[in-house]
Amino acid sequence: MFKIPPVSAARLPELLRAMPKAELHIHIEGSLEPELIFALAQRNGVTLPYASVQALRSAYAFSNLQSFLDIYYAGASVLLHEQDFYDMARAYLARAVQDNVVHAEIFFDPQTHTARGVPMETVIHGLHRACQDARAESGISATLILCFLRHLSEEDAFATLEQALPWQDKFIGVGLDSSEVGHPPEKFARVFARCRELGLHVVAHAGEEGPPAYIWSALDVLGAERIDHGVQALHDVALVQRLAQNRTPLTVCPLSNQKLCVFPNLKDHNLPQLLEAGLCATVNSDDPAYFGGYLNDNLVQVFAATDMTARHAYQLASNSFEASFAPEADKRLWQHRLKEVFELFVEHDY
Ligand SMILES: [Zn+2]
Repeated sequence: MFKIPPVSAARLPELLRAMPKAELHIHIEGSLEPELIFALAQRNGVTLPYASVQALRSAYAFSNLQSFLDIYYAGASVLLHEQDFYDMARAYLARAVQDNVVHAEIFFDPQTHTARGVPMETVIHGLHRACQDARAESGISATLILCFLRHLSEEDAFATLEQALPWQDKFIGVGLDSSEVGHPPEKFARVFARCRELGLHVVAHAGEEGPPAYIWSALDVLGAERIDHGVQALHDVALVQRLAQNRTPLTVCPLSNQKLCVFPNLKDHNLPQLLEAGLCATVNSDDPAYFGGYLNDNLVQVFAATDMTARHAYQLASNSFEASFAPEADKRLWQHRLKEVFELFVEHDY
C-alpha cells in the first residue's frame, strides 16, 4: 500500500496541478471559448446573436441545465468544416496537457451538427485527427465517445449510430447527455443494447439533476459502465452500496454543479462524502469554457472549498485511471507516475 505523504494546505494546489490525471467527462463543444467562437464565426461568415466576446461571456450566468444548453447550442453553430472541429479539439487538448492530463476520453454530440447539415464524417474526422496530432506532439492519449442527445428521440439516436458506424474505429463508446429530467435512460434502452452488441463502451449522464432512479436504470437498462455526474446517488443507500461494490465510476464535475445550481456552493459539494463512501469518484470539467475552468481549476477550487487532503487527491487521480477505458499497460504506467509525483512532495517536505 502506497503511503500518502502529508502535504500542507499551502502546497496542495501545486500537488493537484502537478499530479498526472485522466479526464473522462468533457464535452468538446463545451470547450469552445468565446474567443474561438467569434474567430470561427468570422472565418465561416456566421452571424452570432451577441455583439462581442464580452457580451457572450457575460451571458454565461445560468440558473439550471436548460439555460446553459440554450447558449451551448448557439455557440456550436459556428462549427461547419472539418478544420473547425480540429481547431476546437486541439485547443482543448493543449489546455489538458498544461493541466497534466495524460489521458482524455472526449464526448462529442454529433446530432448538434448533423441537424444543421454538417456531415458526420466532417465531425468525426476533425476530432479524430486532432487527437492523433496531439498525441504525436505531446504524448497525451485521447479517444472519443459519441453522445446521443436525450431530448431527441431514440429513433434519431439510431439514425445517428448508423451514420457513425463507418467510422467505428474512431470512437470507443457511446454516452447519453443533454436535458436529463423528463428523459429517463429507459427511453434509449434499444439503441444502447445495439451499441453493446457492437462492442462499444457504454456510459450515461444520470443523477445530475435527475433522481437516483435514473442511475439505477442507467446501470440496469442501459448497462452503463460509468455514470456521468451521479452526485444524487448519495440519497439512496442501496445504490451507494451497489456502486461501491462494483467500483462503478462516477465522473463528477464540481464547477459545473456549482454553475448549474446542483449545489448552492462548492463547500456544499458532496465529493468528499462520495469518496468516503468508497465510490470510484473522479473530477472532470464537463463544459470548461462555460463553467469557469478546466480540470485543474475544478480540483483546486473544490479542494479549497472543502476539507479534502492529499489523500483525497491521490484517490481521485488514481480513480481517474482505474475508471478509464485505456489499456491496462497504460493505466499501470500512469499509476506509477502518480506515485512518483507524490514522492517528490515527500522529499521536499522532509
Ligand atoms: Zn456532461
